[in-house]
Amino acid sequence: MSQENGNNSTIPRSHPRYLSLKYRHKIIEGMKNLVVAEAGLIAHGRGEAFDYILGERTNEIAREAIKAASALLLLAKKPVISVNGNTAALVPKEIVELSKILKAPLEINLFYKKKGRIEAIKKVLEEAGALDIRGIHEEKLVEIEGLDSNRRLVESIKDADVVMVPLEDGDRTEALKKLGKKIIAIDLNPLSRTALWADITIVDNIVRAIPLMNTLIQKLKNSTKSELEEIVRRFDNKKCIQASLELIKNYLDVQKEKAFKNVKI
Ligand code: ATP
Ligand code: MG
Repeated sequence: MSQENGNNSTIPRSHPRYLSLKYRHKIIEGMKNLVVAEAGLIAHGRGEAFDYILGERTNEIAREAIKAASALLLLAKKPVISVNGNTAALVPKEIVELSKILKAPLEINLFYKKKGRIEAIKKVLEEAGALDIRGIHEEKLVEIEGLDSNRRLVESIKDADVVMVPLEDGDRTEALKKLGKKIIAIDLNPLSRTALWADITIVDNIVRAIPLMNTLIQKLKNSTKSELEEIVRRFDNKKCIQASLELIKNYLDVQKEKAFKNVKI
């Protein structure tokens, strides 16, 4: 079946889990093209599991976080959007659109630097229309303190004031925070170290969060500086994480009651 050959054209639209399968196949295709690392498949699976127990929809809490993140990005002097393989495979066009609206560079930053991967991701972003891609100029890479992995090497992130890190690793979020950067994370796991270290954590699937952010930024673009500052000031990430956990609890409680109502053998 389609799962075995990774070809998403054979998934019937009527399949009850069509969207989930569609994005799974994008990740599989990404792995075949070197864009996604093997470990990226496992990370995607962890994300899927959290999405499942959040009801696979963007909730009010995530919407508030997306609004605060949009305001912070509009206020930033030097915003940078960090891109890894999964992000490039799932939302290439949408992340490029965000980069263009904000005039912010997309910086490729990888944990697993297999030969040819950076080039593969660069190609995907260029095909989606990217104009400003960083992290690809070896001579411009500098190390950030407090990090041993490949992800310590950065280009424009070094001087950024706000860094958006979708699907990030906790170590780097912590290191960037300690350098005084404001961090916006997109992470379906409200308990990951990334989610807990970030200034604004969007607990939502990147495939829903980025398009929504693009729409919101267009709407907020003409707001005054003080209006944007007020949106950021009102946002409290600790409350956001706790409310996301509460949503999961409530969702599971409802599902506990409903679980067998639709299963009649
Ligand atoms: P941390 O390093 O922050 O403690 P982790 O080690 O548990 O996190 P990683 O593999 O480093 O996890 O990062 C992957 C993260 O990305 C996971 O928390 C996963 O829930 C999240 N994730 C995966 N796919 C998506 C997606 N499509 N949208 C949003 N988040 C996702
Ligand atoms: Mg990790």
